[in-house]
Amino acid sequence: MTFQQVYGYEPTVQYSAPGRVNLIGEHTDYNDGYVLPFAIDRRTVASIGQREDRLIRVASAFEPDAVHELSLDELDPSRMQGWSAYVFGIAWALREQAGADLSDKTGFDVFIDSDVPVGAGLSSSAAIECGVALAFTDLWELGLDRKALARVGQYSENHAVGAPTGIMDQSASLLGEQDAVVFLDCRTLDTAVVDLALEANGLEVLVIDTRVEHAHATGGYKARRDSCERGAAAMGVEALRDLSVDDLPRAQELLDDETFRRVRHVVTEDQRVLDTVRTLREQGPRAIGDLLVASHASMRDDFEISVPELDLAVETAMAHGAVGARMTGGGFGGAAIALVDREARGAIADAVTSAFASAGYREPTVFTVHAAQGARRD
Ligand code: ADP
Ligand code: MG
Repeated sequence: MTFQQVYGYEPTVQYSAPGRVNLIGEHTDYNDGYVLPFAIDRRTVASIGQREDRLIRVASAFEPDAVHELSLDELDPSRMQGWSAYVFGIAWALREQAGADLSDKTGFDVFIDSDVPVGAGLSSSAAIECGVALAFTDLWELGLDRKALARVGQYSENHAVGAPTGIMDQSASLLGEQDAVVFLDCRTLDTAVVDLALEANGLEVLVIDTRVEHAHATGGYKARRDSCERGAAAMGVEALRDLSVDDLPRAQELLDDETFRRVRHVVTEDQRVLDTVRTLREQGPRAIGDLLVASHASMRDDFEISVPELDLAVETAMAHGAVGARMTGGGFGGAAIALVDREARGAIADAVTSAFASAGYREPTVFTVHAAQGARRD
């Protein structure tokens, strides 16, 4: 399906924004810590035609035959249904969160098409939000910069869609650059683009989507957040970000064993993000393998958010020569990443697939991603 088939005319402009993979820094975002995602070469495209009235209409290849519409005079989350909230919510958040005056603006016809897999932990949601946010701010000439747009995307996802997510995904999707990672301080929202330089080093990132979606993912996420809050309160700090590895012996004395291990994951993970940034700058990507593997072990043993499928993916990739590997995303299922030599990619993918077959697991989806440019007008 195309824009032309839905609306009967050709679009005037096209914007696109990528999904993302988190290289390292898991469950650190809501602890005011550090994350290191990159935008990937899978994008969501928003084709747009400008209207003369106040209507926004949206359609998606994702749900053929449905066209949702909402007037700029009726913008309110209660009037947004299903996935259309990812588009209408941006217009609403531009007004509510960024203070844009939309009273004299006209609407759009929008058609969304995407090759970011939905629900695989690659943030198809940020891809749609960020492409639309860049398009609307451009076409309405609102003059908002990309950091402001990241906040708009997060606000929309939190309050129009209703998902309590951080700002990592939008930051990666808006600020990503080719063959680079986005270093984000989740407290200050300071960002820096750091060269990943995989191309020059003959490396690639393999995504191994286990296609496991655990029923207790939501409950598990909440329990981890609660543990982190408890740990921070007991240690007398605002957030776990304020602790360093030197504080861990004191934490061990003060906290029960489970809370201590949750805290230890977050504190050491923040340190691993900082170490990864430094290592990338000083030694290049071949030297970050141990940090990725240590991150996985910490999530498996201390934070207890891995599953046997993710552990098998990581172990098999490492046994077949990966430079490093770890689960990525919230855990309890989802995907692992492996940093691999370009020539070894096929052998490692095959080894993981057959290890899954031998274990009686569902066949994983394995594919390569490259660090790509963030949201843009195409
Ligand atoms: P993830 O971001 O990990 O892929 P989310 O649950 O956060 O998963 O976001 C997925 C949701 O985003 C989908 O259920 C849908 O509502 C919306 N979405 C993503 N891509 C599209 C698309 N191409 N067209 C319409 N809605 C989309
Ligand atoms: Mg998402």
